[in-house]
Parts: sequence; structure tokens; C-alpha cells
Amino acid sequence: MARDYRAEARRKKVAPKRERIRPIVERLKAAHPDATIALRFRSDLELLVSVMLSAQTTDVNVNRVTERLFEKYRRPEDYLAVPVEELERDIYATGFFRQKAKSLRGTMKMLVEEFDGQIPRRLEELVRLPGVARKTANVVAAELGEPQGIVVDTHVRRLSQRLGLTREEDPVKIERDLTRLVRREEWGLFPHLLIWHGRRVCIARRPLCEECVLSDLCPSSRV
Ligand code: SF4
Repeated sequence: MARDYRAEARRKKVAPKRERIRPIVERLKAAHPDATIALRFRSDLELLVSVMLSAQTTDVNVNRVTERLFEKYRRPEDYLAVPVEELERDIYATGFFRQKAKSLRGTMKMLVEEFDGQIPRRLEELVRLPGVARKTANVVAAELGEPQGIVVDTHVRRLSQRLGLTREEDPVKIERDLTRLVRREEWGLFPHLLIWHGRRVCIARRPLCEECVLSDLCPSSRV
């Protein structure tokens, strides 16, 4: 059964979340000044493709694949110019390659036909692209400098629950709670801070509370 991180947040008494959110953000910024997207890309198109390929795999794995992929596929038309089997082979190592190739081709077709080959910047437009769900759209919009929501992945969910910033389980509801709490200009950065803190300190199975800069602000702290 999936672990309930909301239950962990009942251990310790802390101030209301509205009072804690500023110091939480400031301390995480100081602790993880390098918190940024781990995918490597040089253009809006490469960003979109990288994020689409990152579903169900690691960023390291995606970077390994895209290093060669982006030499071969430079424009949306390039993804449509090869047989689908060739594209599948080129992205094979990211897993779920058939579905991903189908999504990539559908997206490239729509980009060419409806967006003049450019990547749209509005969330409503991004989610119309085949295979682009809300999380992917949020990541892309944030990296394009126009965050319109807060990305909720497994780390963001776990940390916001442990920190008592949400009592929700559903990613859309968690996102709604976080957007009410976090300043709009920090919507892009905030998930990176939680993701890096989640990878380095607030690890799923064994959170390192004794090393954590948030331990006095966290209702789940074990120290
Ligand atoms: S590692 Fe930090 S954020 Fe995670 S549960 Fe412990 S004190 Fe809370």
C-alpha cells in the first residue's frame, strides 16, 4: 500500500502554514542554490521533447538519449520525416518508446499545422498537444519563464504533505493548495526546491531530519 505522508505530519506542533511558507522557501533557496531542471536542452523545442521523454524514467537517462537525438532532429518537421520505427529506435532507451513516439509525432504535426512550428506558451494550448498532460505543460511553461501553475511530481507531493502544506492526495488539489500559498513569482522555482530537497534530504524511505534545515518548521520532523 502507498505510504500516507499526511499521517506523518501530525507528530509535531508547528505554526500555521501561512507563517511557515516564507522561511521554508528562503531556507531551501539557501540550501539548494543549484536547484534547477536537470534536463539538458538548448531550445524551446528541445525542452518540450525532453520533458515528454522524461515520463517514467530518469532525467539522466533522457539526457543520454537526447544528446544524439537533438543532433538528428532539429525542427518539428524532422520528427515527421522519418518512419515511425526509426523514431522509436532513437528514443527506445527512455522506455514506453511506442507511446512516446506516437505522442511526439502527434505533437510535431500539431506544432507545424497550428502553431507555425513554435512552442505555445499558454497552458491551455500546451495541454492540447498529443501526449502533453498538465504536469508536462506546467514544467514547460515554467521553464519558458511563464509558470501558470506549480508542478506536482512525486517529490513535491511527498514534501508538501510532510511539511503540512496540504492534506490532499490528488495532484490537482495539491497544486491548488500550493498556488494559494506560494508567491506567483516563485511558482517556477518552488517545485525545483522541493525536488532537490526530496532527493538529497527528505528521502522517501528515510528522511534525514537531523540534517534538515526545515526541522523546526516541519510537523513530520523526527528530531
Ligand atoms: S527531512 Fe526535513 S522536511 Fe523531511 S520530514 Fe524531516 S524535517 Fe521534515
